[in-house]
Amino acid sequence: MPASLGQLDAAISECRSCPRLVSWREQVAREKRAAYADQVYWGRPVPGFGPADAALLVVGLAPAAHGANRTGRMFTGDRSGDVLYAALHAEGLASQPTATHLGDGLTLYGTRITSPVHCAPPANKPEPAERDACRRWLLQELALLTPTLRAVVVLGGFGWQALLPVLAESGWTIPRPRPVFGHGAHVELAPSGPGGRPLHLLGCYHVSQQNTFTGRLTPAMVRAVLANAARLAGLRPE
Ligand code: SF4
Repeated sequence: MPASLGQLDAAISECRSCPRLVSWREQVAREKRAAYADQVYWGRPVPGFGPADAALLVVGLAPAAHGANRTGRMFTGDRSGDVLYAALHAEGLASQPTATHLGDGLTLYGTRITSPVHCAPPANKPEPAERDACRRWLLQELALLTPTLRAVVVLGGFGWQALLPVLAESGWTIPRPRPVFGHGAHVELAPSGPGGRPLHLLGCYHVSQQNTFTGRLTPAMVRAVLANAARLAGLRPE
């Protein structure tokens, strides 16, 4: 296993385990969207973003074809990211409300963003086998974050389902019946072994345009979940 998150991120960005996703991410990078025709797309797996000693982890679904797959950074350069980073900034977890490209000056405070699938999938729908192939990266990321991690916000049901078995393997007990995803869901997971610490797991609707354009998810709703998570993670006073 990589000794640091930097090494892990570098290893992830070289991964070619899923033939369908490798083909798709590279095709999108070649063909591009007209608005970005003059840009060089990243076209590779997108590693997590944020400090190695994060207390709060935000887990999405997968990179967007013309967002993170273009810019090389989670939720950067698309409408979903506009909503997420504005909320993170409003809650004191990001240095600025916008994320446009690598080198735009964005820094996260105590917070890291990752996803259970690191390559952009067609129609934003990874296959179960692709989710399972990518699981090893999430396991390693959690192992490296465990010493400081106190809370996880999961954006959407796909991430929730993908994360639960990884959390079980990473040292937390998943209650039976399994906690159900929902916006505002909150469960405190007990450590499964001695010396472990509890972990707060929170659900939030995904910041996709499907949810934000229809009003199913409002900026205030995202902020409320992040504020609660930041408090539970010890990133702000009780
Ligand atoms: Fe590798 Fe994950 Fe991308 Fe599959 S989705 S190629 S496992 S980084």
